[in-house]
Amino acid sequence: MKNILLLGATGSIGDSVLSVIEQNQQSLNLYAITLDSNTSKAKDISESFTPEYIHINNEKSFNKIKEDNEINSKVLNGSSDLSALINDDNVDIIVSAITGFAGLEATAIASKTGKTILLANKESIVAAGELILLSAESSGTTIIPIDSEHNAIFQCLAGEKNTDDVSKIIITASGGPFLNKSLSSLKGVTKEQALKHPNWSMGSKISIDSATLVNKCLELIEAKYLFGLDEQFFELVIHPQSIVHSIVSYRDGSSICQMSNPDMTVPIAHALSDSRRLKNNFDAIDFSSLSLTFNEFPEDRKKLENIAREVCKNGNSSGIIFNAANEIAVKNFLEDKISFNQIYDVIYRTFEATPMSNITDIESIYEKDIESRMEAKKVVKSIS
Ligand code: NDP
Ligand code: MG
Repeated sequence: MKNILLLGATGSIGDSVLSVIEQNQQSLNLYAITLDSNTSKAKDISESFTPEYIHINNEKSFNKIKEDNEINSKVLNGSSDLSALINDDNVDIIVSAITGFAGLEATAIASKTGKTILLANKESIVAAGELILLSAESSGTTIIPIDSEHNAIFQCLAGEKNTDDVSKIIITASGGPFLNKSLSSLKGVTKEQALKHPNWSMGSKISIDSATLVNKCLELIEAKYLFGLDEQFFELVIHPQSIVHSIVSYRDGSSICQMSNPDMTVPIAHALSDSRRLKNNFDAIDFSSLSLTFNEFPEDRKKLENIAREVCKNGNSSGIIFNAANEIAVKNFLEDKISFNQIYDVIYRTFEATPMSNITDIESIYEKDIESRMEAKKVVKSIS
């Protein structure tokens, strides 16, 4: 039996992880969960899965759930409780599925435990990939990606002794709700339109990232760190059907891809598998009805891609700045303070205006994040 700590249990990835656990209760146990403030969902999870612990980040929500005294799980709050939970000897697998830079604290602690991390929280890798990968290596922590593209690459690389024989890795992108639309035609789009992803049902931040195609740029940086290959090995390709999740090409001419219908339980079930694949109630691909297309990443989003490639090459503080600028831009778009196209302006101008600096430890990451957010807020103020 594997004991799972699910960070970000009340979110969209959380739902998919719970679905896989529910179907495989003979081998998987939900030991503990974390969330920010969605206590009503936490109560439901507590009733259905009876986890030992529930860590609630938001203090008000924590106090309320304690007062109500309606759940059997022990409730926790604060950094030292979070750290103790991640380090709890009973925890075998830590699923990192908090959204945004807020997931860094837990992911960084988890990377020192020597346990297994199932990684969805790409923002922590974009901002702190070097540090997390280094501490995972020195502590013997295994990182298995559950972001669908990265899990696909992971599966395509399985059995290969090293990446020396890889000639190219294609990361696919659905194109999001504005597939084939030029940037100039998107000026007036609403957040409701931007949140409506055609293939995937996801949290609001990543849904906007998919609409802007920033998600694919974050994934390029994530892939560079997770697979230890230079950025020029990776190509971003638009594949509207979201069936082929990524492709690894080898120098002998073979290309291996991983395919499934777009359902996050598929990569999650793979990552939670041990020697045998897990049961998963998914819709199988109907190959007879398939028509797969692959197109170039749009020319008018090349500047964005180039920034991501620069981040891959320069490392250090560049990923922190890129990520912080995007998080501020998305937040302001969702609050109707800037337009969809201004998300790009905030990213470009913050990236230009924030000086690069040397990142030596986790504290310097937090400092740079605060500085970058302040710079991004200045840009927002100047354009809104
Ligand atoms: P959601 O917004 O649906 O869920 C986010 C989760 O994080 C919730 O449990 C939320 O709690 C919790 N949370 C938010 N802020 C904090 C905080 N400050 N401290 C502690 N917990 C917090 O996000 P998704 O599930 O869509 O995405 C999660 C991560 O996985 C992201 O990094 C995303 O990029 C990545 N990912 C998601 C995919 C998807 O299909 N959704 C696919 C691939 C990667 P509460 O509910 O209480 O607010
Ligand atoms: Mg993805």
